[in-house]
Amino acid sequence: MSTELPPEFARVRHTPLWQATMPPMPPAPAHALPDTADVVVVGGGITGLSASRELARAGASVVLLEGETLGWGASTRSGGMVLSGFKWGLEQLCERYGRDTGRALLAESVAAVDHVARLEETEGIEAEMRREGHLELAWSRHDADELEAYAAELGGYDGSATWIPRDRLRTEIGTDAYYGGLLFPADGGIHPGKLTVGLAQRAVEAGVDVHERTRATAIRPQRDGRVVVETTRGALIAGKVFLGMNGYGDAAAPALRRRVLPISSYIIATEPLDPALLAELTPRGRMFFDTKYFLYYWRGTADGRMLFGGRASFWPTSDEKAAGILHRGMLEIHPQLAGVPIDHYWSGKVAFTYDRMPHAGRSGEVYYATGCCGNGVALFPYLGTEMARWMGGGPAPALARIGFPLVPAPYEGRAWFLPLVGEWYQFKDRRSGKARARDLASTGG
Ligand SMILES: Cc1cc2nc3c(=O)[nH]c(=O)nc-3n(C[C@H](O)[C@H](O)[C@H](O)COP(=O)(O)OP(=O)(O)OC[C@H]3O[C@@H](n4cnc5c(N)ncnc54)[C@H](O)[C@@H]3O)c2cc1C
Repeated sequence: MSTELPPEFARVRHTPLWQATMPPMPPAPAHALPDTADVVVVGGGITGLSASRELARAGASVVLLEGETLGWGASTRSGGMVLSGFKWGLEQLCERYGRDTGRALLAESVAAVDHVARLEETEGIEAEMRREGHLELAWSRHDADELEAYAAELGGYDGSATWIPRDRLRTEIGTDAYYGGLLFPADGGIHPGKLTVGLAQRAVEAGVDVHERTRATAIRPQRDGRVVVETTRGALIAGKVFLGMNGYGDAAAPALRRRVLPISSYIIATEPLDPALLAELTPRGRMFFDTKYFLYYWRGTADGRMLFGGRASFWPTSDEKAAGILHRGMLEIHPQLAGVPIDHYWSGKVAFTYDRMPHAGRSGEVYYATGCCGNGVALFPYLGTEMARWMGGGPAPALARIGFPLVPAPYEGRAWFLPLVGEWYQFKDRRSGKARARDLASTGG
């Protein structure tokens, strides 16, 4: 470990906490690819696993291709925060897509949380799901005003979101760093590794033919409507294809690559804390994230750790450097954690889109769900399931109604302009940071 990192990192492991604490994936010994399949699913994360399980249960022959190993991508590296909602609020969704679609989109994101929360009951997947709510924390007075207004707007929709003003925030979180928070009480947290293993088990039990270390390299529709899928281990012909590649999408799906920006997100996790300290930091076990562009997200885990994540940098950087940045950020919010050993640090890739919305749709017989924009633990298992139902003749999810814009810059795989976007966001965060400092000084906060 580099000497640049503080002593708290003395025994740290560069491994996702979840991968270190999840049961083994179902074995998928290498075997020959078949010549044909009803459906080929590309990507063995929570999206592809949910889709393939559903398709196999409906009687389709399903081949699942995973370039690495099952769950290798973001699915076992996330914060495990099971959240409803999108970047845009209800009113903005209605303005952009029309009232019916706007409402249907928000309802879909709420249904997605229910879907994941019910997996223990419906599928017997035990993944430490707790519905203790999430709190979006206002970094500036301006953000607080916006969140409070949004609470009022949502009140007319389902009445569940509640504004927690600054003077009551200590009942929610052990810090005075924020100007209030918007509480979504029905959201929650999960062990994403256990969730992914559970979905993989159900997919294998349903008869999905899993091929790990098998990368799709090209996907070509044929004249007869079927699709040729070329892989690193030979080609096969599918009736339909489903792409669940999210932030790890590659040249196999060039049309998605022109619409999706892979951005790294980073996380550190402490050792299990003294229960009294954990209760001081997070008295109600909520999921937290804040309103900065370079946002932080954090939570207590079921085994009592503090997990703290964020974007850290849009410049290419090392996980180690990002871990140091996050550690400093965590101590600014929770100085109580000074001296507490950090056990794990890691990173993963998230797919961002130009309109900051996730997307699901089809082009001929090639279907996809991608662009989670950092919020996919609830939505993407749901979307995988719903997309599979659509592929089997059921209704399309509401997300399939909205257009999927190109990234408006010449871009093939390497997003050269991302550091510039990062500089702009950092500038905006610095500007609101200065306003915040002036404000705190004048109010003695
Ligand atoms: C650090 C981090 C923190 C996050 N925190 C949260 C959170 O707290 N809450 C939340 O809602 N969301 C969070 N997310 C987002 C969430 O993890 C994702 O939305 C979700 O896991 C997406 O699942 P997926 O199956 O679509 O993609 P992934 O799990 O990324 O899986 C995609 C798979 O596709 C495979 N693949 C790609 N191309 C090919 C190919 N050509 N051939 C074969 N295989 C291929 C990859 O190897 C990969 O395994 C976080 C993400 C990261 C990285």
